[in-house]
Amino acid sequence: MVGKSPITNNLCASLKPRYHFSTSNNTFFEREPFFHAPTEAAPDGYPITRFISLASYNNPKKQKWIYAFSIDPTAAPAVVIPPGTTASPLSLSNKKRPTAPSQEFSRFSTDGAYAHRGNKRRRAAPPTPAECFFCLSSPNLATHLITSIGTDAYLTTAKGPLSTSDTYPSLGFPSHILIIPLTHSPTLASIADAEARKNTYDEMQRYRQALHDMLTKLASCKLGAVTWEVSRAGGVHTHWQFLPVPVDSIRRGLVEAAFKVEAENERYPNFETKDVGDGTEESSDFFRALIWAPPSTISGGEADGDDGSAAAKNTSLLLPLDASFRFDLQFGRRVLAKLLGLGGRMHWQDCGQSEEDETADAEAFKKAFKEFDFALEG
Ligand SMILES: [Zn+2]
Repeated sequence: MVGKSPITNNLCASLKPRYHFSTSNNTFFEREPFFHAPTEAAPDGYPITRFISLASYNNPKKQKWIYAFSIDPTAAPAVVIPPGTTASPLSLSNKKRPTAPSQEFSRFSTDGAYAHRGNKRRRAAPPTPAECFFCLSSPNLATHLITSIGTDAYLTTAKGPLSTSDTYPSLGFPSHILIIPLTHSPTLASIADAEARKNTYDEMQRYRQALHDMLTKLASCKLGAVTWEVSRAGGVHTHWQFLPVPVDSIRRGLVEAAFKVEAENERYPNFETKDVGDGTEESSDFFRALIWAPPSTISGGEADGDDGSAAAKNTSLLLPLDASFRFDLQFGRRVLAKLLGLGGRMHWQDCGQSEEDETADAEAFKKAFKEFDFALEG
């Protein structure tokens, strides 16, 4: 136990402070630093607490009564458990058994908090397929969100979707969709088997195309879409997030500008316009946004017409990630939330639905997607 009072202990366990100071009459005590397990809200690090109890001023035993320390309030929590730290004595006292950090990863762990990036640094215990929230074999999988299962990839509706069923009246359901490889792999590029990698990437693109086709029909060419991905060697199970956006915002360059301006605000490196396919050629981690606008009329697919009609438009924006800056894993959602005026729905944790509503949205999507779902063929 760190302190004698359960209230103080619970406070420390909740706040996860960098330092926990206490006093005792004639004794100085410094415990080994201890880490707190990642949580759903902050899944990407281990907050570390140092417990220090100072002796009283001028104590007869001449024990330490003053302590100098420096603290960087902006520093991200440790990505791996630093050597010399122990599990939190607080969580041990409050729970029947310690919770392994790997079991606390949420299916939206990439949507959580800031993460210190680094190719060489990996989490102490990455989730296994059985613990993963994206593996079909996992007992943690939210099966009622699954809307299509192909050969190498599958679709689910997003938990805590950014859009609601009111955002796009022509759709009537949120249509915030995840395109997920069946293979448990942190990036597409790290799928070792070249054929499996190609098939997975191809089918994810095929799903994306099918979603575009659905939007073209349902929204009569008024909705485009952004598909974004955080590809990190230290990730868990890579996936794409798909969200419709008004076609005007794409044609007027607002979507592209929104990503670029937000990156600038965050002092990230500049976006490049670059299609990296399955990412095999990329030496670093990256964030990408694939922006698609439908042709301005269903028949006008090929080129800009003399009548002012516009062809379909595809843009791939790439932001290389490296250890020189901290990348907000919620970046994609944040940019689109601002763009769409959905600032109140920036965090998926704030957009929880009842299982009943989740099921209804998934069913409405399935019904609309049915005629475009190649997985249903044959
Ligand atoms: Zn997995």
